[in-house]
Amino acid sequence: MRRRFVEEAPRQAQAMLGVIERLHPGCLAALRDDPLSELGRWPDVQVVMEPEVGEGRCSVAGSYRDRTDPPTLVVGASRSYRRRGFTGLHELGHHLQQTDPGLGQALFATQDSEAFEDAACDAFAARVLLPEGEIPENVRLRGPSATDVVELFQRSQASREACCVRAAEYLSGGAVVLLDRAGSAVFSSSRSLIPPARGSDQSRTPLIERALRTGAMAQHDKTYVEYRSGRAGDVVYGQAAWCDEQYLVAVLVPDNAPWLKYSAPRPGTGGTWYGSQSVCETCGEAFEVSAPPCEQCGDATCPEGHCACTSARMSRDRACDRCFLVLAPSRFDGTRRICRDCA
Ligand SMILES: [Zn+2]
Ligand SMILES: [Zn+2]
Ligand SMILES: [Zn+2]
Ligand SMILES: [Zn+2]
Repeated sequence: MRRRFVEEAPRQAQAMLGVIERLHPGCLAALRDDPLSELGRWPDVQVVMEPEVGEGRCSVAGSYRDRTDPPTLVVGASRSYRRRGFTGLHELGHHLQQTDPGLGQALFATQDSEAFEDAACDAFAARVLLPEGEIPENVRLRGPSATDVVELFQRSQASREACCVRAAEYLSGGAVVLLDRAGSAVFSSSRSLIPPARGSDQSRTPLIERALRTGAMAQHDKTYVEYRSGRAGDVVYGQAAWCDEQYLVAVLVPDNAPWLKYSAPRPGTGGTWYGSQSVCETCGEAFEVSAPPCEQCGDATCPEGHCACTSARMSRDRACDRCFLVLAPSRFDGTRRICRDCA
């Protein structure tokens, strides 16, 4: 979803920095050094640590509550110090966009404003933690390798996520993906490449398999993203480097890999998808692929708009035997066939 805002989100983030400078002149340095302590001194918001409850709408472990006085930035308590800082700044991003008329105007002008707002929050948090001056010149000129992203993390106070977001801004195309030690995608930031879904297993893809097996930096010239639907993405160049024992960073690009002297565009990149045949899991119809794949699951969408997300949802939702509405499992008691409203 975020890839649509590769240009707009950083622009909005830059405007958000301007609003901060106006509201709290000269505080950006303090905000970078210790975000939560600095935010704790502001009368405009309150910061609350809470255990995380499932996955919210935010791309990070936190949420924004505008009904309290002052509004609340909720930060997942179980995360690392750096990660909590990134989350706090992300939630501050929601506060700014929902209270500043100029920023709200930019949201209003966007179609998918919720996704845009969240992407801008990530870009803003990453910019506070990693200003332009912290990005090495070679990264700015030729884009990041995975080892560059790891170096950014080691040299700064920024979270791994912030480093991924900032690094991805210097890609001409591709994705920066953060993975756990089992090879599951934790977070990603991309430009014109559909990144792996959060929580999806990438351990069988050539690049990640190699990095996990050797425990060292790995490169692969023919790797791919594995989507939730089981479909393999286009063949890309990849480099993976370990942040520490727990986390791996992968950079995937269709061409111009910064770590290679020469990397021609992969033949057929993007071209093989359109016109191929697929069968919809939900309606069972065969169809010709004519639209870009779903940005959540990477699966083709049928003419009815179904993708792997729809079938995953359908397998959980069920129809009530009385009102015949298809409802989420929470609307039923246990395995009853009649919904709570009808019961
Ligand atoms: Zn958010
Ligand atoms: Zn369908
Ligand atoms: Zn989908
Ligand atoms: Zn019912």
